[in-house]
Amino acid sequence: MNYLDAAMPEISAGVRDYVAACERECAQVFAALDEIENYNTQKVLLAFQRHRVALRHFAPTNGYGYDDIGRDTLDRLYADVFGAEDALVRPQIASGTHALALCLQGLTRPGGKLLAASGRPYDTLEQVIGISGEPGMGSLRDYGVEYDEVELTPDGHIDVAGVLDKLDEHTQLVTIQRSRGYAWRPCLSVDEIGEVARAIHARRPDVCVMVDNCYGEFTRLQEPTELGADVIAGSLIKNPGGGMAPTGGYIAGKRKYVELVSYRLTSPGIGREVGSYGASYRPFYQGLFMAPHVTMQAVKTSALAARVFGGLGYDVNPAYDAPREDIIQAIRFGDADKLIRFVQAIQLASPVDSEALPEPWDMPGYQDQVIMAAGTFVSGASIELSADSPIRPPYIAYMQGALTYAHGRLGIMCALERLGGISPSKA
Ligand SMILES: *Cc1c(COP(=O)(O)O)cnc(C)c1O
Repeated sequence: MNYLDAAMPEISAGVRDYVAACERECAQVFAALDEIENYNTQKVLLAFQRHRVALRHFAPTNGYGYDDIGRDTLDRLYADVFGAEDALVRPQIASGTHALALCLQGLTRPGGKLLAASGRPYDTLEQVIGISGEPGMGSLRDYGVEYDEVELTPDGHIDVAGVLDKLDEHTQLVTIQRSRGYAWRPCLSVDEIGEVARAIHARRPDVCVMVDNCYGEFTRLQEPTELGADVIAGSLIKNPGGGMAPTGGYIAGKRKYVELVSYRLTSPGIGREVGSYGASYRPFYQGLFMAPHVTMQAVKTSALAARVFGGLGYDVNPAYDAPREDIIQAIRFGDADKLIRFVQAIQLASPVDSEALPEPWDMPGYQDQVIMAAGTFVSGASIELSADSPIRPPYIAYMQGALTYAHGRLGIMCALERLGGISPSKA
C-alpha cells in the first residue's frame, strides 16, 4: 500500500489513471481559474498595503473594545476588497445564517416587505423570515414584515419583469442568492445580479438590494457590491476566511445600510463601536490574504469532480467547463445509498476525524434529514473539503471546498473507490 492511501481505501490503478486523464482535460479550465486567482491576489495585496496592515492589527483586545484597531482595520480592508463603502467583519457573527439574518432584520421595518428575487432562499433563512417554523420565535413575520418571492425562470435566471412587477410601496428589501445552495440550478453571475440591482434601483432607488454572497467570494473578478448590489453578506468559515478564520461572518455595502445592520449586531446607538476579541485577529487577516488562492483550490477540486463524475454518466451541475460563481459541485446520484457512500468517502479522506462515518441526521434549521462530511480543522468549515446533502430524491450530493487541490483530488479518488472503482478499460 502506498503511504498516501493509508487512511483510505487503497486507490486502484484504474481510478488513478482515470482521474489523471480527467485532470489533463481540465488544463484549460484550470488556466482560466489561475488568471482569476492572480487578479484577486493582487487586489487583496494592494488593499493590505493601502491600509498599512501591521503587526499591531493582530493584537487581541478585551472589554468593550473601543477603538479596537484590529477590528476596525479589518472592516476597512473588507470594504476595500469588496468595492464597498463600509463593512462589518466580526468573530461574534456566528455563521453565514447569522450574518444574513442581521441584514434581513436590520434592513426591514414593521409594515414593510421582503422580496426574494431568486426563489426560495437558503433553508436556514426560512425560519428567520417566517416561511416555516413556529410563530413567536421572532421571525420577520412576527414583526409584521411581509414576504414574497419570485421564482427563477426555467433556465435559472432572475425573472426581472416579475421582480419589478412585485415591487410596491411597502417593499424595503430585495434579496438575491448568488450560489446554488441546495438547489439544482446554476449560480447567478455577478453580472446578472448587477443588472437586476440596477433595474430595481431605476424603479425604486430606496429599495435595498442584498445578496447572499456565501460561497461566491473570489470566484470571479468582481463582487456584487462592485456592480450595483447595496449589501452582501457571508461566512468567514467559507471562502473569505481562506481556511484560517476560526469563526465569524461579514457584511459589506453602502454605509447607511451597514450602519443599520450594526445596530442589530450590537444595539441601536452603539452599533459597531463595541466588540472585543480575546484571541489574535491574525487568522482573519491571513485568511483574507489566502482566500483568492484557497478559493481556487476548491473551485479546481469541484471542476475535477464534475469531469470525473460527469465522465461516468452522472448528471453534474455545473459541467466541468461551465463558468463558476461558487465553490459547490452538485452530483446527482439518484440513489440514497450511492449518495451516502459518496459523502462518507469524503469523510474517510479527511485529515481530521477520518474514521467517524457520517450518518443522516435531523439538523437544526433544515427541513429534511441531512448527511454531512466535514473532517475539518475548523468545525463545519465548508471551505475545507466537505460534502453535505439533504436526504431527498433525486439524491444530489453537494461537495465543496479543499484547502489544497491535491487533497480534493484524493477525496475524489476515495469516492470512486467507495462507489466500486473504475475498470481499467474506462481509464
Ligand atoms: C452556507 C450558506 C448559508 C448559511 O451559512 P451558515 O454558515 O451555514 O449558516 C446561506 N446561504 C448560502 C448560499 C450558503 O452557502
